Amino acid sequence: MSKILDGKLIAQKLRESLKDEISELKQKYGKSPGLAVVQVGNVAASSVYVKAKTKSAIEVGIEVIDHHLEESTSQEELINLVLKLNTQDNVNGILVQLPLPKHMDEQTILDTIHPNKDADGFHPLNVGKLSISPTNDENLLIPCTPFGCLIMLQGLNIDLKGKHAVVVGRSNIVGKPMAQLLLKESCTVTIAHSKTKDLDLLCSQADILVAAVGRPEIIKGNFIKEGAIVIDVGINRVENKDDNKKSKLVGDVKFLEAEKKASAITPVPGGVGPMTIACLLRNTMIAFKNSIT
Ligand code: NDP
Repeated sequence: MSKILDGKLIAQKLRESLKDEISELKQKYGKSPGLAVVQVGNVAASSVYVKAKTKSAIEVGIEVIDHHLEESTSQEELINLVLKLNTQDNVNGILVQLPLPKHMDEQTILDTIHPNKDADGFHPLNVGKLSISPTNDENLLIPCTPFGCLIMLQGLNIDLKGKHAVVVGRSNIVGKPMAQLLLKESCTVTIAHSKTKDLDLLCSQADILVAAVGRPEIIKGNFIKEGAIVIDVGINRVENKDDNKKSKLVGDVKFLEAEKKASAITPVPGGVGPMTIACLLRNTMIAFKNSIT
């Protein structure tokens, strides 16, 4: 039987400690961190994420500066807003909710965010810092989802050094930064992607397996080494065979098969997802601290 890594609980503890720290900082400096949340258009999933991020931020004492723009907003107008937020003293973190409308180039917008206010940790300067900074640098702005995964792994209190970690997925927001973080922990890291051969064989050699693919239940039980730790980042909406009126969320890992072999595993939902938001709040607080110290 594997240990189920309860992301909701771990994220709640992280938020509580952030709340305490923000309250202390407010007493000391007379101000609170500010997070600008920018949404363009009305993609339903984005609205859900923005709402959840805003609620969590307010709960821990972060001031939210909300900008909800029309779908028809031009790229230039969005860039001008970001440039304005870059100079605003009450804004420590800027989050531009992705995806952006098709007429905008996401990377151009992300590159416009000042690296010191980069709440998502996606700016090329922060990506570079993650790759070359010392292992103990606590001031880095790190992509939230992989950092959330790392916190869950660290919570297991096992020695990560020398473990073989296989990360399936090489996106800029999850797979690559996840691999960097595991490398910093002195894991031996392999990154797999859509062109990788014999994925099952490769995964079955992993002490730590992180799946960030976006393909429902692609990682089956026979991919898992006995005793491995399995972190499932995937969020996939699929048809619910028990109730054909409703859909349901599944991960990239076939949970019921994997949990028979893993020593620890994250569920979907309730695993990595809640950690992502908590780490966004953490980045905002770090950006705030960096701005006052
Ligand atoms: P991307 O689509 O950007 O990247 C997916 C990666 O998976 C790519 O590197 C791709 O390879 C690889 N891949 C695709 N098919 C296969 C395959 N058959 N075998 C091996 N590798 C494959 O996705 P993201 O990284 O943005 O997200 C991944 C998943 O995580 C999604 O389900 C997403 O919804 C979820 N997610 C969850 C978050 C959370 O908070 N829990 C936050 C962010 C994402 P290639 O590069 O060759 O195309």
